[in-house]
Amino acid sequence: MRYISTRGHAAPQSFCDILLAGLAPDGGLYLPEHYPQISRADLDAWRQLSYADLAYEILSRFITDIPAADLKALVAKTYTAEVYRHTRNGGDAAQITPLTRLEDGLYTQELSNGPTLAFKDMAMQLLGNLFEYVLDQRGESINILGATSGDTGSAAEYAMRGKHNVKVFMLSPEGRMSAFQRAQMYSLQDPNIFNIAVSGLFDEAQDIVKAVSNDAAFKARYKIGAVNSINWARVAAQIVYYFQGYFLATSSADEVVDFAVPSGNFGNICAGHIARQMGLPIGQLVLATNENDVLDEFFRSGVYRPRTAAQTSITSSPSMDISKASNFERFVFDLVGRDPLIVSELWARVEAGQAFDLSATDDWKNLPTFGFVSGKSTHGDRIKTIRLAQGRYQVMLDTHTADGLKVALEHRRAGVPMIVLETAQPAKFEETIREALGSEPLRPAAMVGIENLPQFVTVMAPDVEAVKQFIADRV
Ligand SMILES: *Cc1c(COP(=O)(O)O)cnc(C)c1O
Repeated sequence: MRYISTRGHAAPQSFCDILLAGLAPDGGLYLPEHYPQISRADLDAWRQLSYADLAYEILSRFITDIPAADLKALVAKTYTAEVYRHTRNGGDAAQITPLTRLEDGLYTQELSNGPTLAFKDMAMQLLGNLFEYVLDQRGESINILGATSGDTGSAAEYAMRGKHNVKVFMLSPEGRMSAFQRAQMYSLQDPNIFNIAVSGLFDEAQDIVKAVSNDAAFKARYKIGAVNSINWARVAAQIVYYFQGYFLATSSADEVVDFAVPSGNFGNICAGHIARQMGLPIGQLVLATNENDVLDEFFRSGVYRPRTAAQTSITSSPSMDISKASNFERFVFDLVGRDPLIVSELWARVEAGQAFDLSATDDWKNLPTFGFVSGKSTHGDRIKTIRLAQGRYQVMLDTHTADGLKVALEHRRAGVPMIVLETAQPAKFEETIREALGSEPLRPAAMVGIENLPQFVTVMAPDVEAVKQFIADRV
């Protein structure tokens, strides 16, 4: 399997070559040159498999440059009941992403039972093992630089801690993450993990990462890499749980299932889109946004109007607070018939701060064949939905998953199971749970009192040179 760029001007690459890269050299995103097709016989056979074996079957269609036995071993050590042990609602950890039944035909799928209690662990844990394997093979090393407002940074640190030839430098906005999120990241003692709290906002931290990465000489000398949401391996890993959710909600491949996905950068739902293109019987992909509704606007109107950072509001589902959806270009590439010229033109406009409008095109008329529908949820909806789930189903939802359920209920179809992807556990967002329910969310026993552990973090002004010096002193 080879990978091409959505903008058409990059040489096709193999999986391991794009694993450590970010954007393609032409500024596009990598996608497989075609989507592997899954037969009815595959679906029937895969239904019996463990999560790790299912992950191997799916990923081996996309990763053809790692020997089968090695890939199998990497996947087997990633997807264990031990790693994904923080189940709630009686879920079976051996299933890795078990369903919670809310009522007949309505489920949540627990994607947040890993070490940091958010769905980012599902892909990031695999990325950690893949990075270590490929770097060992090549005798190389990497220094991952990132900025986080919470979930991504902690998932990256827990995936990369203790890995050979990998160091992580993670910038976070000082005092802006929840106490729980700070404790998760800053209490790590691994010598390859460096937390930097920038006295500023998330966007300032993000700008520093961009400035450092744009310094080509520094980037090459210090082997600076990233693990952001456009990384193809993360999208690939996420395809697996759509299959697992489908198998758990059905008894035969004659059935169709709808998925609702709390969305920000379009990474999670992009994996659902690919699963559907591969032949998994998904009916609707229900995209849910919060107040930052750029994607809902697109799916309703054909107009994609990215916001500026200043227009992005800070909400009670913070991991969905995005101005531009970084993975969206992958879907638009498919929507416009995989024409890289059209994508290049559209993103030239986006990069100039403009909107684009597909509503008058033939491609837009094809949208229904892709199964996407959408909706949005505000703080008030979120609070109401958390109360509804607790009252009606005795299930406590996190704020992002509540956005998903709110929009799922608007698109539910008689006779079609609806699976809402649970993207985080409520323990990560205590303040809003308290507002909605007047009580504290339960935490996994091992995480009780983590706020009291010693914390290791360097506080710095938002200064590019100081961050470069910090990295140079530690590499
Ligand atoms: C990252 C994240 C999202 C958004 O996922 P995308 O792949 O960026 O669309 C939603 N909920 C939670 C809890 C997250 O951490």
